Formats: sequence, structure tokens, C-alpha cells
Amino acid sequence: MKDFKRHLVTAALPYANGPIHIGHMAGVYLPADIYVRYLRAQKKDVIFVCGSDEHGVPITIRAMKENVSPQQIVDKFHNLIKESMAGMGISFNIYSRTSNPVHHETASAFFKQLYATGVFTEKTSEQYFDEKTNTFLADRYITGTCPVCGNENAYGDQCEKCGSSLSPEQLIHPKSALSDSIPVKRNTKHWYFPLQDYEPWLKEWILQDHKEWKPNVYGQCKSWLDSGLQPRAMTRDSNWGVKVPLPDAIGKVLYVWFDAPIGYISATKELTDNWEDYWQKDDTKLVHFIGKDNIVFHCIIFPAMLKAHGGFIFPENVPANEFLNIEGEKVSTSRNWAVWVNEYLEDFPGCEDVLRYVLCANAPETKDNDFTWKDFQDRNNSELVNIFGNFVNRTLVLMHKLCNGKVPAFHNDIIDEKDKQLITDIHAAKTKVENNIEQYKFREALFEVIDLARKGNKYMQEKEPWILAKNIAGDPSIQKEIDNCIHLCLQLTANLAILVNPILPFTAKKLLHQLKIVERVLDWENAGSLKLLSVGYSLRPPELLFRKIEDEEIEKQIVKLKKGLIKMENHDQQPTEKKEEPQIKPTIQFEDFAKIDLRTGTILEAVKVEKADKLLKLSIDLGTEVRIIVSGIAIHFKPEEIIGKQVIVVANLAPRKMRGIESNGMILMAEDANGKLFFISPETMIPSGSSVS
Ligand SMILES: [Zn+2]
Repeated sequence: MKDFKRHLVTAALPYANGPIHIGHMAGVYLPADIYVRYLRAQKKDVIFVCGSDEHGVPITIRAMKENVSPQQIVDKFHNLIKESMAGMGISFNIYSRTSNPVHHETASAFFKQLYATGVFTEKTSEQYFDEKTNTFLADRYITGTCPVCGNENAYGDQCEKCGSSLSPEQLIHPKSALSDSIPVKRNTKHWYFPLQDYEPWLKEWILQDHKEWKPNVYGQCKSWLDSGLQPRAMTRDSNWGVKVPLPDAIGKVLYVWFDAPIGYISATKELTDNWEDYWQKDDTKLVHFIGKDNIVFHCIIFPAMLKAHGGFIFPENVPANEFLNIEGEKVSTSRNWAVWVNEYLEDFPGCEDVLRYVLCANAPETKDNDFTWKDFQDRNNSELVNIFGNFVNRTLVLMHKLCNGKVPAFHNDIIDEKDKQLITDIHAAKTKVENNIEQYKFREALFEVIDLARKGNKYMQEKEPWILAKNIAGDPSIQKEIDNCIHLCLQLTANLAILVNPILPFTAKKLLHQLKIVERVLDWENAGSLKLLSVGYSLRPPELLFRKIEDEEIEKQIVKLKKGLIKMENHDQQPTEKKEEPQIKPTIQFEDFAKIDLRTGTILEAVKVEKADKLLKLSIDLGTEVRIIVSGIAIHFKPEEIIGKQVIVVANLAPRKMRGIESNGMILMAEDANGKLFFISPETMIPSGSSVS
């Protein structure tokens, strides 16, 4: 392994258009913070940078809707996010923002450098323009009727109903999502970055040289690279953002994904005059912590930009996480289906580490995971309170009771197998936690820490010093046994403080206080030591590390979540999640209905359609034939889950092409108010091809 002199750790810039929720925490900020705290405990040279991403269309739209300036929107959320991060103990060296002058200068200079070396190509194209609000419309902000399924609320880039990917030109009756007016076409010039030119380099750098990246990250990069990269516009028509630094570019700003990652560089500049050491010397290890939706920007686009610019290092790793669902459903900011960090901190004061613990134990490291309030309560009560807290508390109570409040001596002459085993376990835990953190496996690391506490409990239970104490009269060898047990349990407690410190820093602090040790003891090199507490040293009376979480508190949270109580005006971030009550369609005659040929079918095969997140290609047995049907259900069902399922098929629907695949028919699905899909199936299995009427 390369010996790095410096570490630069970045965490995805949160978008200053709303508060942050626990999914953000679990996916990005908590793992990054654990990693950084671990490096600091190792006494490595490390800086941890982040900041608010304050540009982009959703902010201008929110400002327009609320009738305030974009700056007011970003000021509000920048401060709220910053406080939430600090409240959770996320220990950035700097939390900056992209509306800062230093960022505008840095991003601007970066663009100019690429422009000067002829990297960009200029291209004029026609784009939809909203004359009422005087804005060019990004594809997402044009709605209309889907030409494929007739959904009246399709977006200019995609129909969420049938999953077809669209261009605004294909929409029937397009209208602006901003003003409902009919958009017109106008010419506009933009600067395109030739991503395709960097494809061979990216292939070598990622696919050859970084096979160790997490499978989800590597896989997503491979699929982008295999399908061929396209030039990408790096400018947008807007007045909010970093102005394009060219004379003929009035009303144009840098594309938010061009400027946002440069935000990491600007924040480093703001933090230290030595910023070049961190960004330009190849003995610096750069690691980007992100969510899975940002993989392409951090693994492909930003590195290609850095390559084109020259002089910068590239990330050693990009440990992206999957998503955290809440109570079995995807987080939805518009429906307020989320647990907001600022609200958690208000509702559970002093319980920062409980959330850190649960989110780490349940981190979506390899697949989407689920947060439930019940699991939150269980993990707190049965793991933090009963295992970790209980062990520490018992040790300190017994030490005060049986050893006069002082660290007892350890008597080597009476050491037994159980003592030896515990000593081995204390030594081994360090390496286990270390290996896991270095491989970005924070869940496993946490598991090892708790396991050590569990072993401590078991040891104490087997030794039963409180029983020994009853027989002590006249037998000094029994006091020696008690001393050994308490001595080892105390050293183990000090070890727990070191090992848990990166993950649960608030708890480590409490332990420092109770054990009366200085912060330096938490240096990682001390883990595994049995000399952390000197014999004869007196300690403070114990205080509980964790409290039990009661049913009522959990019920309150569940009710709050389900009612979608909205404290802050609204969390509407993107127009993607708008859901309207479906109205009954106009009456049709029986003859119209009779034209539809409905049959039962059985799903024989299901595969994901490449480059279409929502589509599954299904082979369906209709009794007399096997049909290929493309269906927009990939978000709701995994292919392997639906094999063998019986469905109702519209068998005489005209064929249509989706992503180059001819789809022959449609399967019927029910959709609830949350947008969740359900199959319509016969009550029991019946022969495929049976008619339905
Ligand atoms: Zn559609």
C-alpha cells in the first residue's frame, strides 16, 4: 500500500434547498466523520472539507415560489444544515458555501483555464423558454402528456408512470412547470465538455487501477463507461450561480455539477494557505464520501475536469453508499417522509450518539437499508444500554464498592484462562476495528466494538466479583481475584473509549470524564494496551452513559412521521415527487371496455433494461405464446422477486418501443397514494392465458 503523507476527505456538498435528513447522515456524513476521526486518532495529517451547494435551478424556483431572493433561501438552509452537522458531531475542518467569493473566483479560474486550452466546444441549440418568468427551462421543468402512455404529468426528461425516457420535444402539450405557460423555443449557446475524449483514460484509471472500489461504485462507473460518454454542457442559462467568465456569456452561469465539486477545492483554499499540498501532491490521499446518486459526478465528470485542467490529484477512493429508507418507504422530501436531523436533535437532546450508533449499525453500505423507529429503540435499549452501558456502569460501580474507588492492582500470580482470553480479545479488537475502518466497513467496525463490550459482560458474569466479595473475610486471595477482575474490566473500559471514539465521540468524551483520563489517551496507538489506567488512581462516581428510550417516545415519532407534520414551511425540493389525487376518468361505453383483451400471464423472466432505472424487460407466458413486455416497475421490484408471479396483461395493446425493445402489451398495476405499486393477480394460480373480464 502507498504511504500517504496527507489525507484530504470530502463529504458531498448538501444542497441548500432544505434541511438534511438521516438518510444523508447515514449515507455520507457519518461514515466520512468516522473515517476522519479515526485518522486523527492515528495522528495523521488530515483535513475534512464540506460546504453548502448553493447554486442550481431548484433554488431559484423555490425563491420564485416563496417570493424571496435565492440568497435568502440559501442563507436559511446553509445555517440550518451547518447547525445540524455540528449538532451530530460531524467534525469538518471547514463547512463552507459555494456562494462565497473565494469559490466564485476558484470556479471561474478553473473554467477559464479549460477555455484557454481549447477544451470546450461551443454549440448553439434551441431550447424551451418560459416568456412569463423569463427563464430557459431545464427538461425537468417542462411537463406535458406522455406520448407513450398518455400520463398528463410527464416530465421533459422522463415519464414517471411508464418509465419512458423522453425529450421535451416528445411531450404533447408541453407547458412550463414554473408558470403553466406554453414555452417557446429560443436559441442559446453553451460550452460543452468533451467527456468522450477522457473515456480511454477513465477506463484505465477506474476499471484497471481501482478494482478495489466498492462493487456498487465500480459497477456504476463501468456501466457508464461501457455505454459510451457524451459531451456535456457545462453552462446553463440562469442568473443564479457562478457567472460564465466570458464576454459573450451574459445571463449564463456554470452548470451546478461543474462548480459544486470545485467547491471542495475552494473550501480547502479558504481553510489553509497550504491547499496545494492537499490537491496537487500525489502523496495526498483524496477520498470522496458521497451517496449513490452522485457517483457519476465524482468518479467520471469531476476527475475528467481535473485531468483536463492538469496539476490535480485524483481520488484514491469514492466510498458511495446506497439509500436509507424510512419505515420501509423511500425518503420523500415533498411528502415530508423523512426524519429531519434538526428535529431529531430537538426531540432527543443528549442522544446524538444513539442516532450515530443506529445509523452506523444500519448503514446502507452495500444495499438500500431501512430505518425504523422500533429498531432505533431496540438497538438503543438492548445494545447501547444493556451491553455497552451496562458493562461500563457495572465495572465502575463495583470498583467503587469493592476496591475503594481506586484502580486495583493486577496480580500476575493468579491469572487464569478467562483472564488470558479477555486480554487476547482486547488486543485483537484493535486490529479488527482498524481493518474494517480502513476498508470503509464502518458497520463491521462498530460490531467489533460492541462485541468487545459483550465479551466484557460475559467475563464479569463468569467471574461474579460480587459473589466473591461475600466470602472475603480472612481470605486475601479472594480480594486478589476481585482485583484482577475489576482491573481488567477497567482497562477494557478505557479501551472501549478509544475504539468507540471515532463512531460515538460524545460517549468517548463521557468516558474520559468518568475515568479521569486526558484526551491524549484516546490516541489510536493506545488501543490494546492494558496500562491505560494506573493502579491506585481514583475515578469519578459512575454516571449512566445511555438512557432507555420509552415506547411513548417512539410512538410519538411514528405518529409525527405518518402525519407528515410539517414544521418548516415545506420541504418541497424537486418537482419529481408531486402526486395528485387520481380523478375518475370520463365515462366510457361497454363496447369501449370490451375492446380490451385482458389475460392472465405468468412472469417467466425479468431483467433490468440497461440505462433505464425504472424499466424491467419481462417475458410473460400467455399460455399460447411468450410475450416480451417492458414495464416501469424496476424501482419497486427486484427482477428475482417477481419470477413466477401471475399478472393481468393487456394482451391487445399496440406494440411500442422502449429503449429499443419492442414491448407487446402491458401489465396491470395498482398504485397507492404514496406511489407504491402492487400487482393485480388472480387469487390463486390459474392457467396462463385465461381471459379476464
Ligand atoms: Zn408514460
